[in-house]
Amino acid sequence: MPDMTLVCKDCGIEFIFSEGEQAFFAEKGFTNSPIRCPECRKARKQQRREKGIDKKAW
Ligand SMILES: [Zn+2]
Repeated sequence: MPDMTLVCKDCGIEFIFSEGEQAFFAEKGFTNSPIRCPECRKARKQQRREKGIDKKAW
């Protein structure tokens, strides 16, 4: 499969969904392509982690 150019749902920038990443996704059983760029994905992961810590603090 060739590299795909996708548009991030969050920030609207174009990012490459590379052949290697597509293979990785397929391996993990994901059938749909990512909707966010790697930066937004990273940010969201971090946010979720921070929220988890907040909950524990309560
Ligand atoms: Zn983004």
